[in-house]
Amino acid sequence: MIFKSFTFTAITIERDIPHSTVECGNCTKCCELLSPILTPEEFVSGKYVYTLLQSDNPDLPYIAIPKLDTGCFYFKDGKCSIYETRPNACRQFDCRKGHYPLLKDIALEKFGQYSDEPEL
Ligand code: SF4
Ligand code: SF4
Repeated sequence: MIFKSFTFTAITIERDIPHSTVECGNCTKCCELLSPILTPEEFVSGKYVYTLLQSDNPDLPYIAIPKLDTGCFYFKDGKCSIYETRPNACRQFDCRKGHYPLLKDIALEKFGQYSDEPEL
């Protein structure tokens, strides 16, 4: 696979945020709608398939897991097929904390209400 060399440091993943312990129930909208961006360590680990996404800097694309019509590449049979080794972005992401208002609305529509108040 051909890969363009570039500096990793501009990729913004908040790696020091503790992993969320919030239960998201059976909602899988983030897996259906998003492409998790990989950290440099995750990319060089070779564990994940990846694609390049456009960023604000054309010379510095994001490295992300590909998104298919059915959702994330690793979203199989309605669940994450690599759950135990899913990327850090997936572990941190919680739409109920206000990261993605759109997804928050989708989750609200699906669940009716959140189990926790959003922590913005
Ligand atoms: S890697 Fe797993 S948890 Fe992360 S978006 Fe894809 S299917 Fe969801
Ligand atoms: S509630 Fe939000 S973070 Fe949790 S699975 Fe659904 S879309 Fe993803």
